Amino acid sequence: MLKINNLQASIEGKQILKGINLEVKAGEIHAIMGPNGSGKSTLASVLAGREEYEVDGGTVEYLGKDLLDLAPEERARAGIFLAFQYPVEIPGVSTTNFLKTAVNQVREARGLKAMDAVSFLKEMKEKMKLVDIDQALLSRSLNEGFSGGEKKRNEIFQMAMLEPKLSILDETDSGLDIDALKIVADGVNKLRSADTASIVVTHYQRLLDYIVPDFVHVLYQGRIVKSGDKTLAYELEEKGYDWIKEEVAAV
Ligand code: ADP
Ligand code: MG
Ligand code: MG
Repeated sequence: MLKINNLQASIEGKQILKGINLEVKAGEIHAIMGPNGSGKSTLASVLAGREEYEVDGGTVEYLGKDLLDLAPEERARAGIFLAFQYPVEIPGVSTTNFLKTAVNQVREARGLKAMDAVSFLKEMKEKMKLVDIDQALLSRSLNEGFSGGEKKRNEIFQMAMLEPKLSILDETDSGLDIDALKIVADGVNKLRSADTASIVVTHYQRLLDYIVPDFVHVLYQGRIVKSGDKTLAYELEEKGYDWIKEEVAAV
């Protein structure tokens, strides 16, 4: 599904990603962990196509296409979804209206008919249950005045509605209490399937108790310096990141 080869990227002339290699197959969940400032959000943003980041080298193949060649909205239509660490507020646009447009754009790109108002509402109701989100929230301006937990839940709701092929969750767990965390994880797990994949970026191991990853990667100083299975996450929880830093320094 996704093949990242020697990806290098910078922001404001500062090199952040220094050669990332990663392959994600359909059906897999990959966790990306690492100390603050390692480049985790940069990687997520570059994959989503955020324009403030400059790609300096390397390739990214997504479903056989050159991902870096696609505009952000083309990536979204092709089934990539990024849940932001800090979701943006959009005054004057409700989640419902935002999604009506977005869902039909994705459907069009997949060769499906636009959803009529009745089916859209039915779909909304179903997915609302999945993440236990209040309908009143969905008619308010997107994310405006939402609490941290409400924003994160709303991100997962959007993800459920858009049915992405590849979802990237950037620290969706930060600022969540344990109940909200379980709801978010539950939503992600229910959307798991053999033909979708997820990249879950997290600083803490806690989320991975609920979203069990197939692979765990440690990003440090712009490179993936260690990969393993879910037990690597437990090891990091127990020992912190210092031993990784020492290993890197010793090379
Ligand atoms: P992480 O998500 O792993 O904490 P980030 O990708 O957010 O790391 O940041 C990686 C590095 O890039 C950090 O050193 C950060 O200060 C720097 N950085 C991020 N955004 C900007 C920006 N807009 N301008 C300059 N430097 C930035
Ligand atoms: Mg950070
Ligand atoms: Mg980050």
